[in-house]
Amino acid sequence: MLGTLNRRLLEFIAASPSPFHTVDTVSALLEQDSFTPLSPNEPWQLQPGGRYYFTVNGSSLIALRIPEGTPTGFTMSAAHSDSPTFKLKEHPQTTAAGHAYVQLQTERYGGMLMASWLDRPLGVAGRVLVEKQGRIISRLVHLDQDLAVIPSVAIHMNRAANDGFKYNAAVDTLPLYGVGGDAPSVLTLAAENAGVAEKDIVGHDLYLTCRTRGTVAGGDDSLLLAPRLDDLSCAFGCLEGFINADSSHAITVYCLFDNEETGSQSKQGAGSTLLRDTLRRTAFSLGMDEEGYQRLLSSSFLVSADNAHAKHPNHPELSDSQNAPILNGGVVIKYNANQHYTTDGVTAALMRSICRIAEVPVQVFANRSDMAGGSTLGSIANTHMPVRTVDIGLAQLAMHSSYETMGSADLPYLVEAMTTLYSKSLCVDNDGSLYWA
Ligand code: ZN
Repeated sequence: MLGTLNRRLLEFIAASPSPFHTVDTVSALLEQDSFTPLSPNEPWQLQPGGRYYFTVNGSSLIALRIPEGTPTGFTMSAAHSDSPTFKLKEHPQTTAAGHAYVQLQTERYGGMLMASWLDRPLGVAGRVLVEKQGRIISRLVHLDQDLAVIPSVAIHMNRAANDGFKYNAAVDTLPLYGVGGDAPSVLTLAAENAGVAEKDIVGHDLYLTCRTRGTVAGGDDSLLLAPRLDDLSCAFGCLEGFINADSSHAITVYCLFDNEETGSQSKQGAGSTLLRDTLRRTAFSLGMDEEGYQRLLSSSFLVSADNAHAKHPNHPELSDSQNAPILNGGVVIKYNANQHYTTDGVTAALMRSICRIAEVPVQVFANRSDMAGGSTLGSIANTHMPVRTVDIGLAQLAMHSSYETMGSADLPYLVEAMTTLYSKSLCVDNDGSLYWA
C-alpha cells in the first residue's frame, strides 16, 4: 500500500528532477493554496492574513503566512532543493568525428555515491537561458526520456572491481549518449523541449537525472525507494505542514534553499543573507522598526529539516550504539557537540514538545564519536541570524545514492509534526521559561 502522502511525495519527486523544477512545483502548490507571488524588485505591502512567496534564481524559495493580529515571532522551516548529481558542461558533448561514441561532458555536483549512477537510464533536466529581442529569458527543460547511460567496465576487464574501485569523474563517469553522429545533440533536444530556437540559447544549467521511478518495497511495504529523498522528502513534508496548519500568532515561514550539497555558499543558499534579509523586509513592511524585528527574532524558532542516516542493516557498527535512528521510527532530532547540527538541549526540548502534542514518535541521531559527520542548513543560516534552531530529518539509507531508501511510515510523522509546529508560536516569559501557544 502506497498511502496518499507517499504517493503524493513520489509525484512531487517525479515533477522535481532539478532544483528549478522543485521550486516550480512548490510554487504551483502554493498558488493553488492562494499564495501570491512577491516581486523582489517591487515594494512589499504585506497585509495581515496575507500569504506570499517569492523565488530566488529560480532554485530557492521563501513563503510567508502573516497572522491576522500582531505577530509574535517567526515559526520557520528550511529544507533544500538540490541533490548530488552530474552537471553538463558548457560544451556538453563530444563530437562524433573520429570517435564512434558520443559522450556527455559532465562534472560532479555535490558528493554523490558515484557507483549508483552507473548502468541505469539517465535523463537531463534544468534550465536554458535564451536571448530574444535583447531580453534574457529562463525556460525549464526536462528531457524525461532514457537518454544516456554510464556503463561499468566489465568484470573481465577489471577483476578487482568488487574489491573497491576509485572512480575518476573525468574518465569513469562520462555518460554514453549515442553511437555515431546521427543523434540530435542534447542542446537541440533541450531547445525543443523548452520551445525555443537552439540558436537563441545563451546559457544553461542542465543536470543528469535518475529516471527510476519511486516505489514502495518490502514484504510488508515498509520501505519507500526513490531518487532525491534527500531532501525532497523533507521539502515536501514541511510544505504539507506549512499549508495545512491552522493560523498561528507567529509569521510562518517555509524555506527551500539551493546549493546545500555544495556547502550553501551561494547567493541563493542558506549561507547567504537571503533569509535574514527576507525576515527584516517582512517586519519593516508590516510597519515595525529594527527593534520590533529584533523582538520578533527573540521569539522565533527554525526547524532545519534534512534527512538523517538510519542504522544500516549490514553495517550497524557504523552508527553510534545508542543514538542511531531506524526506518519508520519517527522524526529524527540530530545532534552534534560542535554545532554542525544546531540542536541543543533547549531546541531539542522545544521540538520534543511539538512532537508530543502531535503524538509523533521521536528518535535521535549522533555520529559515532570517531567519525566526522555532515553539516546542513541550520548552523549555516544561524551565522547570519541568531534564532533558536533544531536540526531534524527522516531516517534514510544510502544517502547521496542516485536511488535512496527510507521508511514508508515516516513521512506522515513529519507532516503531523510540522502541521503542529506551524500552528504554534514560541513564547518566552520574563523568567526565561519557554512554551508553545
Ligand atoms: Zn540533505
